[in-house]
Amino acid sequence: MKKYYKIKENKIMCNHCKDVIQSLFVHDFKYCRCKSVYVDGGCLYLRRGYINDSSDYKELSVLEEANMNDYNIYGESDEFDCFIS
Ligand SMILES: [Zn+2]
Repeated sequence: MKKYYKIKENKIMCNHCKDVIQSLFVHDFKYCRCKSVYVDGGCLYLRRGYINDSSDYKELSVLEEANMNDYNIYGESDEFDCFIS
């Protein structure tokens, strides 16, 4: 069965400069101080950018498991409008 998650906090820590950056809403595009990594997507999707590979950052996002029956796939529910699969 497919699992659905609500994104509570979309954030990472840069392993180079140790900045913690968080994307608060869609298109809230944040770079760390040294410009090695970025986050984007807010509570809608987890988008990451990096210079080398995913070892450039530590994942700190907070996800909450959600029940598919609790949400409308077309995003009409206010309560569960933020999922990744
Ligand atoms: Zn950095």
